[in-house]
Amino acid sequence: MTRSDFLKSSLLLAASAGAGASFADACLSAKPPVKKPAPPRNRCPYRGIDWSKAIQINTTSHGHCLNQNFLDKYIKHRFGFMTISNYYPSAPVVPGKDFCDGYYRVNHDWPVMVNGKRTEGPFDWNEIIKPYAGRLEEKYRRQLPFKLGGKMFPKWPEGMLEAPNAEHHGFLDENGKSCGSLHMCAPGSAFKSGTFDARYFFKTHTGGYHHGSGEYWGTAIDRMIEGMIYEDGGGITINHPTWTHLDREFLLKLLDHDPRVLGIEVLEAGTNSENYWDWALSTGRQCFGVFVPDWSIDNEKTFGVNVLVVPERTVHACLRAYRLGNFYGAHRGYGELAFTSITFDGNVLKVKTDKKARFEVKTARGIRMETTGTEVKWVKSPSPKPRRQDWGTDIFVRVKAYALDGSGEVLYTQPIML
Ligand SMILES: [Zn+2]
Repeated sequence: MTRSDFLKSSLLLAASAGAGASFADACLSAKPPVKKPAPPRNRCPYRGIDWSKAIQINTTSHGHCLNQNFLDKYIKHRFGFMTISNYYPSAPVVPGKDFCDGYYRVNHDWPVMVNGKRTEGPFDWNEIIKPYAGRLEEKYRRQLPFKLGGKMFPKWPEGMLEAPNAEHHGFLDENGKSCGSLHMCAPGSAFKSGTFDARYFFKTHTGGYHHGSGEYWGTAIDRMIEGMIYEDGGGITINHPTWTHLDREFLLKLLDHDPRVLGIEVLEAGTNSENYWDWALSTGRQCFGVFVPDWSIDNEKTFGVNVLVVPERTVHACLRAYRLGNFYGAHRGYGELAFTSITFDGNVLKVKTDKKARFEVKTARGIRMETTGTEVKWVKSPSPKPRRQDWGTDIFVRVKAYALDGSGEVLYTQPIML
């Protein structure tokens, strides 16, 4: 789908939000997904950034946002780019300004796996459920027939950047068995999957409708890639690996499937997956870390923000920053501490902050350096002849910066592969 197709379909959605017409979407044909090859994940993020002119924009690759109250929390957290990742169904909430409650319950025009077969939309859920509606629990029956509701976000902020995204789930493995609780987000992709009836409260499973992707995970990833609104921007994230007890070998398979699988959630709603991150990086694979609230935008203690470092305030620049790893993680994202420069010349890594911080330099060999100040400098090869204890290799380097003001802010650079 091209940028202009995306705009066209967004405008169509905006124009039709009250009329119930469907959201035209070129990327949802029944044909196998078609994707162009992409260069490998960037092994040296931040290269070429002019930090004196760069703009830093708070966002997240995985954040649910159901109403104005939620949106206000994101705005309070200084978000400048919204890629709402809602599900049930896994479909983008764009454009936010015009999006209506219940939109996808009455406008489901993408394919669903029905009894294991990919079946084209549209699906009229009112008609599908009607014959057996009497057998539903009262509280669900009362919701019928589904109708378009009011605006989801009556006060969408003027000028807020946004791009499609969704949290996809319900994948199958190579043998057609469930992949368990693997969840993936796809910031920058207009791809839609699954149905509204994830808990089967409306008994759609009795008709054979799969609630999620229902496809092999590799095919699903390829469809997400096919739906990218920019060829050189956006990507796919592997969500909450700790919560899902993601198998480590499976994580590598996901990363190896396509370089547009960007990496894993390192902070997700208070859960820290740095152990997964460092392990994947220690295999020599680049793996970006993303930092997300998921459902926990309300809870300051359990947060996570992606801070994009971009040359201009545009959707394309934001999605490119994701693809290139030109972003860093913040535990809170209130601006209590910020990176002002991250550079690596092939041998020396220099990281600067706007206020005094405690720095930790981490490699595959653990914490290699700790210091306090507004700058840390780490040299890759301190000695042309490493001493015996220096045998082995660092493989990657990344830096954590802890605020000293009591705020609890912690920043995380992306890894640089050595
Ligand atoms: Zn989620």
